[in-house]
Amino acid sequence: MAVVLVVEDDPVVRAAMIRDLSARDWVVRSVGTALASLREVAEHPPDVIILDLGLPDLDGRETLKMIRGISDVPTIVATARDDETEIVRLLRAGADDYVVKPFSSEHLNARIEAVLRRARGAQPPQLLEVGGLRIDVDSRVAHLDGTELELTRREFDLLAYLAARPGRVVPRRELLAQVWRQSYGDDQTIDVHLSWLRRKLGESAADPRYLHTVRGVGVKIVAPE
Ligand code: CA
Repeated sequence: MAVVLVVEDDPVVRAAMIRDLSARDWVVRSVGTALASLREVAEHPPDVIILDLGLPDLDGRETLKMIRGISDVPTIVATARDDETEIVRLLRAGADDYVVKPFSSEHLNARIEAVLRRARGAQPPQLLEVGGLRIDVDSRVAHLDGTELELTRREFDLLAYLAARPGRVVPRRELLAQVWRQSYGDDQTIDVHLSWLRRKLGESAADPRYLHTVRGVGVKIVAPE
């Protein structure tokens, strides 16, 4: 059952929201200040947040940014007026959706269901396919045209990272950070692993099929034509 955190300082509005949301089988937690909401997000991560923007202690956009600093939890902001400029700003600051007060409980409920659906749908896929490559991320097995590839841990991670982003040129810096977990490093580290991986895929830098180096930028994986 999903936990909804209601951040609302007005006791009447808050009580009504708790009543309505609980009646729809959400587990509801509530706080009345921005700082309390940050503590709650850190200590008891909810599945979705309804964030009132008119809080006594912090500006709504600041609160949202601080929440985003510690969590990707889907967040619906509740604004008092339909101010398009402000709503655009909030969506850019990391809000997933918004509701304009006064809103009905049906409306809020539909929004909650929608952001939860999107959040769940956004889980990275466990089976990646690019052309004849099939990569099972969970069991860490990769096949090329039906034949299992014998990859080292690093080669597998590199291949899976690229295959999750087919067609995108992934910068070397990003590969170092995400695959090697290093904030800096030698380009040769990547080149060496790439050349081993290429050999296992039956290709070379001079005659690439899946792995394409974009000079000075990074590497991308594509399905061969
Ligand atoms: Ca308020």
